[in-house]
Amino acid sequence: MPTGTKHFDVRRNDTVKVISGRDKGKQGRVLRVFPDKERVLVEHVAMVKKTVSRRNPQSQSGGGIAEQESPVAISNVMLICPQCGPTRVAHHREGDSNVRACRKCGSTLEN
Ligand SMILES: [Zn+2]
Repeated sequence: MPTGTKHFDVRRNDTVKVISGRDKGKQGRVLRVFPDKERVLVEHVAMVKKTVSRRNPQSQSGGGIAEQESPVAISNVMLICPQCGPTRVAHHREGDSNVRACRKCGSTLEN
C-alpha cells in the first residue's frame, strides 16, 4: 500500500449536495478537487466576495467586487444518486476498474 495516497469518492464534474455548513442543501457541479487539502470547489457553493484591483488605469470597467467559489471540505458534500438523491458511495470491481455505485440502490454512479 503506498502511503499518502488517498482515495476520494468525489470527482470533477460530479454533482454533489452540500450536507453541512453555510450552504447546506445547495447542489452543484464539482469544479475542482484538492486531494491534499481534502477539499472541493463546487459551482455556486461557498461564494466569497473578492475585491478586484483597480490599479490598472487603462481599464475603465475593471475593479469592484466579484464573487467566486471557495473550497469546501469533501466531508461536507455527498454524491447524488439519480434514484435516491444524496448517498454514500460503494465500490465495485469491474474488471480492472473500480466503479462507484449507490450504497442504497446499487446504481452505478459513473458519468
Ligand atoms: Zn441510489
